[in-house]
Amino acid sequence: MEEVTGAQLIAESLKSQKVEYMFGIVGVPIIEVAMAAQAAGIRYVGMRNEQAACYAASAVGYLTGRPGACLVVSGPGLIHALGGMANANVNCWPVVVIGGSSDQNQETAGAFQEFPQVEACRLYSKFSARPSSLEAIPSVVEKAVRTSMYGRPGACYVDIAGDMVNAKVDRSKVRVLSCCPTPPVSVADQGAITEAISVLKEAKRPLVIIGKGAAYGRAETALREFVEMSGLPFLPTPMGKGVLPDDHPNCVAAARSRALLQADVVLLLGARLNWMLHFGLPPRFNPDVKIIQVDLCAEEMGNNVRPAVALLGDINAIVTQLLERVHEDGWKYSSDTEWWSALKDKIAANAKISKALALQSTVPMNYYTVFHHVSQLLPPDCIIVSEGANTMDIGRTMLNNYLPRHRLDAGTFGTMGVGLGFAIAAATVEKSENSKGQRIVCVEGDSAFGFSGMEVETMCRYNLPVVIIVVNNNGIYSGVDPETWKEMGKASSLKWFPAFYQL
Ligand code: ADP
Ligand code: MG
Repeated sequence: MEEVTGAQLIAESLKSQKVEYMFGIVGVPIIEVAMAAQAAGIRYVGMRNEQAACYAASAVGYLTGRPGACLVVSGPGLIHALGGMANANVNCWPVVVIGGSSDQNQETAGAFQEFPQVEACRLYSKFSARPSSLEAIPSVVEKAVRTSMYGRPGACYVDIAGDMVNAKVDRSKVRVLSCCPTPPVSVADQGAITEAISVLKEAKRPLVIIGKGAAYGRAETALREFVEMSGLPFLPTPMGKGVLPDDHPNCVAAARSRALLQADVVLLLGARLNWMLHFGLPPRFNPDVKIIQVDLCAEEMGNNVRPAVALLGDINAIVTQLLERVHEDGWKYSSDTEWWSALKDKIAANAKISKALALQSTVPMNYYTVFHHVSQLLPPDCIIVSEGANTMDIGRTMLNNYLPRHRLDAGTFGTMGVGLGFAIAAATVEKSENSKGQRIVCVEGDSAFGFSGMEVETMCRYNLPVVIIVVNNNGIYSGVDPETWKEMGKASSLKWFPAFYQL
């Protein structure tokens, strides 16, 4: 009889579900889980804080399409990871968190780090459960991995009682589960495709919006052909940048406000009409705009704006359907329209303004000057990790992306402190899978950097190819002018800003 421990079952189940990366912090009761994971061939990265570990695991999910695992200890360890789970869930990125918890026979008795972990995770995840026995571990892990990727991706939680980690069971009694298949793909209803094409053909001022759902859905090849065949202008959202290169002739990012305000038809590909897109409503959108909404989540259809056409299904599949129609009909939106001229004029005018700012030589440098110089040094294939208030907002307009899934930022949840964890994830994947010497460049505001700054040590310990640039304005948002600084320093012992600490 061969015996197997709970730790081994967790690790082997993750590995057989093709979870290749685990980020965490070891401690009681999950030390053996990390060891078993390494023995099973999972790449384990020991971090400095569970929150950053969870950010890293979720970024692996976005970058590879398969969730990373985040391994945490009971109580505070799990609670630190909740920020990462929430961020992943809001971003629609798959991640699986494995949390050790107190021993089963000590529950409700005031056990070490006791906390209602399965319940706590429910608000932050799609699925939260504890295997009821060692034999149940493979099926619970399979369900967590599958649920994290199927439908709208998100976070899942598996709880493992401390006393189950080292408990043993006869291996022959454990049902082995093979790897769950990649998510099934659905196409849109053909009638809806016909309607969408006719709405597009009637558009006077059409616009394609490319969101991070298109990036996650790996729609880049079909999408490039569609944009080039149809001749439509496109606008990427922050993490939609790079699905098509920022310097593509159809990219109208430099005329973003005008494009959003005046478009009469928007083909919305994997982006939600939430705060990031001003809810799709006036004053930032035309009140009569017709939205053709493409999403795999049916409940998303109609949030804030009722779509003229709802195309439910996978973006890559649906763009391919649209492309077939465009091919058949030989239709192309003319490049000789008032809309294209208006967009091009605005792009030229805005480029002039940012160029003038970029060439200023005042000290301290303005953001445009900084990013102008940084952008000239960035390798075109680097992954840009960006966070901070002005650093991220202005950086987005100045730092180009040329490849899909090569920009990671504060995302839909607006989370600061994600950058270093994301960079560790990107660098770990690069080292293990590509090894093309691709650089990971973090462009951080000083405040954003401070949230997870200790993860620099993790980067050094694993020798990861990350470059960190901190744009230091000595504070949060825009920092403060010298007068305000003096007044605030005199008036109170306020230490809101790191800079005040020097007073
Ligand atoms: P952005 O930040 O770029 O605006 P969001 O995160 O708001 O993007 O929206 C992404 C959307 O993409 C989500 O509504 C999600 O359901 C959807 N999505 C994710 N993957 C796919 C896919 N493969 N096919 C279709 N829709 C997808
Ligand atoms: Mg700052």
